[in-house]
Amino acid sequence: MGPFVARGCRAGAEMITLALSKGRIFDDSLPLLRAAGIEVLEDPETSRKLILATTRPGVRVVLVRATDVPTYVQYGGADLGVAGHDILLEHGGQGLYQPLDLRIARCRLSVAVRADFDYAAAVRQGSRIRVATKYTHCAREHFADKGVHVDLIKLYGSMELAPLTGLADAIVDLVSTGNTLKANHLVEVEHIMPISARLVVNQAALKLKREPLRALIDAFESATAANNP
Ligand code: AMP
Repeated sequence: MGPFVARGCRAGAEMITLALSKGRIFDDSLPLLRAAGIEVLEDPETSRKLILATTRPGVRVVLVRATDVPTYVQYGGADLGVAGHDILLEHGGQGLYQPLDLRIARCRLSVAVRADFDYAAAVRQGSRIRVATKYTHCAREHFADKGVHVDLIKLYGSMELAPLTGLADAIVDLVSTGNTLKANHLVEVEHIMPISARLVVNQAALKLKREPLRALIDAFESATAANNP
């Protein structure tokens, strides 16, 4: 198949489509968009629309699930998007140009266990541990690098529940303040990597819509620099 570029119904050739996910990514992207001179004209929390107009002519926002942002951009459903590094690592990043760490939605990918589980001893003794996670790719690599034998259990949410119900010994999940772990009597035993959101761009669009996309990427870059002096 040839290159995939966003077309969109009745959108002009130079229409730029930006994929965002609701919640943290959307909220943290708004100040960057604003600094780039773009206001989103509707609030996704109150509107049910999935395509949102902006004050910048020729730029629109589409709302997709966080895990779908790389797929939309890869296949040209959007020209660019904002995706967590965690999501990109799991997706693999094929067909995506990743020009910029936006340094928003920052957190870390960590291993956590029940407070009464002796993780260090389990690892030292070479026991096989059961790990529940949405991030199977990152988890597999992490434990393989450490030479720890793991059985991975794929979950799609509420990972904190897995050690509490005996489904798993450990979880690999995103941690920000640590409050969710604490509320569920779990402790962080390893930091795997810091995570933040990145700008991803469709490689074919970057050639075919070079000017407007470059202008947007540059605007994001200046806004990110201004946010992180
Ligand atoms: P916290 O209680 O602040 O440590 O947040 C942990 C919860 O929020 C977990 O359910 C995580 O999966 C989720 N979380 C934390 N940071 C992020 C992020 N940057 N992006 C998406 N989910 C996150």
